[in-house]
Amino acid sequence: MARWCARRGWPVHPLAPGRKTPTANCADCRTSPHKPAACSCLPAGRPCHGFYAATLDQRRIDRWWGQHPDFGVGVACGPARLVVIDVDAHHAELPARDRLLPGIPIADHVDLSGLENGFHSLAVLAALRGQPSPADDCTTLRVRTPSGGMHVWYRAMDNRRWQCSAGSSMGRALAWQVDVRAHGGYIVVPGTTTAHGDYVAVGDVREPAPLPGWLAQELERTGHLPAPNIPAPRPVPPRAQQAVVAAGGGRQRLSQTLTAVLAPVRACAQVPEGAGFSDALNRAAFTIGGLVAADRMTRAEAEAILLETAAAARPGQERRSEQIIRSGLNAGLGKPLFVQRRRP
Ligand SMILES: [Zn+2]
Ligand SMILES: [Zn+2]
Repeated sequence: MARWCARRGWPVHPLAPGRKTPTANCADCRTSPHKPAACSCLPAGRPCHGFYAATLDQRRIDRWWGQHPDFGVGVACGPARLVVIDVDAHHAELPARDRLLPGIPIADHVDLSGLENGFHSLAVLAALRGQPSPADDCTTLRVRTPSGGMHVWYRAMDNRRWQCSAGSSMGRALAWQVDVRAHGGYIVVPGTTTAHGDYVAVGDVREPAPLPGWLAQELERTGHLPAPNIPAPRPVPPRAQQAVVAAGGGRQRLSQTLTAVLAPVRACAQVPEGAGFSDALNRAAFTIGGLVAADRMTRAEAEAILLETAAAARPGQERRSEQIIRSGLNAGLGKPLFVQRRRP
């Protein structure tokens, strides 16, 4: 099986006998912590560091599985250009409504009885998009897992570097009890046997189909692509705010207030969309409007600081941000905010 995968261009690494986890690191790698990139075992062909050891080298593969025929087989999804949708069927309590399908609000009146596992949450997502569930996709390789779940294998198209996620994560997630295996993860190959049972391919299809377009869109919407254009939140105040301090007159304290007021807007930069950005920006503009009304700063200064902060968190949405800022400031101007001044 390892050779079959490697011939398809999927790098493989050994799994511990009877388990779905990689073989243990060697004693050196266990005792001296280091990054896989700095490990001497990997170039030497020793299978340390899980999927980082994955290889297409047939001789290495013959040696690993020749010496240990009971090793299972894992495929490093990223370099194999695979995206595997990992559907779980665990018995677990339903999460909060906003964690069932992250980014898709589910109203309180929607009846969720019968929704029990990842097969259901994925089916709901697919139905919302008018598509069949990937778990029912008989055009691609699907694998039953020993715990009653399913791995739906797809090929990543257009060299896109899809990222892993866990359905239970508070960050990036596609759906409740649905994990995504891609860059940064591995997948157990069908034919692997564990103490809990076998990984068995469903039906006759043994090749992954291209990732369906609608599913790619959903993965993109839920943040499964790296976002090089989105800057990390900046620890330093924006230039416009530094200018306020530079203007002097004991405005250090005002700057601290601004930093606190703008923090929720800056925090939105950590997620590519949503995250209540409009609300956060509106509230910040309202509060800062109050500072303008109390003569702590000019309206022009307030606008510059808000615009700069908003543009850093949501680049490309400047026009929309400008509208939110203007209406927030206008509302706040009616509520002067007298921050206690420290005596000089
Ligand atoms: Zn090692
Ligand atoms: Zn190592």
